[in-house]
Amino acid sequence: MLAMDYRGPYRVRAAHKPDPHIEHPGDAIVRVTRSCICGSDLHLYHGLVPDTRVGSTFGHEFTGIVEEVGPDVQKLKPGDRVLVPFNIACGACFFCERELYGNCHHTNPEATAVGAIFGYSHTAGGYDGGQAELVRVPMADVGPTVIPDDIDEDDAVLLTDAFPTGYQAAEMGDIDAGDTVVVFGAGPIGIFAAKSAWLMGAGRVIVVDHVEYRLEFVKRFAQCEVVNFREVQDMALHIKRMTDGLGADVCIDAVGCEAAGNAAQTLTGLYTMMQAGSATALHWAINSVRKGGNVSIVGVYGPTFNAVPIGNALNKGLTLRMNQASVKRHLPRLIEHVRAGNVKPSDIITHRIPLEEVSDAYHIFSGKLDHCIKTILVTPG
Ligand code: NAD
Ligand code: ZN
Repeated sequence: MLAMDYRGPYRVRAAHKPDPHIEHPGDAIVRVTRSCICGSDLHLYHGLVPDTRVGSTFGHEFTGIVEEVGPDVQKLKPGDRVLVPFNIACGACFFCERELYGNCHHTNPEATAVGAIFGYSHTAGGYDGGQAELVRVPMADVGPTVIPDDIDEDDAVLLTDAFPTGYQAAEMGDIDAGDTVVVFGAGPIGIFAAKSAWLMGAGRVIVVDHVEYRLEFVKRFAQCEVVNFREVQDMALHIKRMTDGLGADVCIDAVGCEAAGNAAQTLTGLYTMMQAGSATALHWAINSVRKGGNVSIVGVYGPTFNAVPIGNALNKGLTLRMNQASVKRHLPRLIEHVRAGNVKPSDIITHRIPLEEVSDAYHIFSGKLDHCIKTILVTPG
């Protein structure tokens, strides 16, 4: 089969790899029809995630047709059209029982923190991902959801991660009616966090980024105010001035560790790691929220970014919440929002690029080129 192939920082290609097969009775093989590139893939691409092995296949946002199921699989059959949440979860452990699928204990037992994720390095279980023609889906009765006939597959693929993660970001912010919510990051996650903040009763939503076309997009898509941080000298002061001197009720970090520029060399990648170490969006989120406010973090920080401005957070009496999204928990509600026309997730798709051109696709998404917001990799079959 054709699949994305990681060669090292800033180097990916399409390559022929052996077809996956059923390895455990609970597995399914899915023929991928749509897979996306996520901001999380960029951390792998930029070399910021440890134990990302050469030869691995990324991709944790995908839909497809079930090709084959193992003998223990009961809820799926060949031919089913499915969306597959990015979390690989057992459905039965302490965490899954509490719907914390993103923290499943069994699928990634060696990790101290994260649950397993498709195509996300050996720190997240070492499973191959869905930027491929075929993918093995473990625990196939737990995560995959048959796509209802009235839901468009372009919308469905955004329910595997981007929309649920944005939604969970807003949910963790514990928004009260009328609250002012500031979202850092106007990528797919920030865009859906802004949209979700309204669904949860926010009174005002402000999105901060520096990529002008993304700010224009989110202004339209989520009817929010926007701030270009390149035009601001002191972010916390700026947000305070916008909010009667108090600060925002809720701040959401939808950025995580950010690579600078559109670098294409490993050397620049190293420079990038030093820059990203400042965790600017997280600092801004903590410093821009009002005293006693809530900070919700879904932006991903690799282990080298474990320092937080904890002193300010303590002195301000903040509530900090963060997690990997638990996609499955949100699906019933989000499918209803899509059905009701409250959100049209596929509106954020700007690019459809053949899997053969995966290298260009990463280059464009990473560099925020060509007005890119969300890319779907199209498989030949
Ligand atoms: P993206 O790269 O498309 O978007 C990030 C945006 O942040 C960009 O538009 C960039 O210009 C902007 N940005 C950079 N520095 C900023 C700053 N200091 N302040 C404000 N904006 C800034 O990525 P995405 O797909 O939207 O993902 C965003 C983050 O969410 C990533 O860290 C990703 O790993 C993470 N994520 C987390 C989960 C989860 O479950 N917790 C799931 C998916 C993605
Ligand atoms: Zn993702």
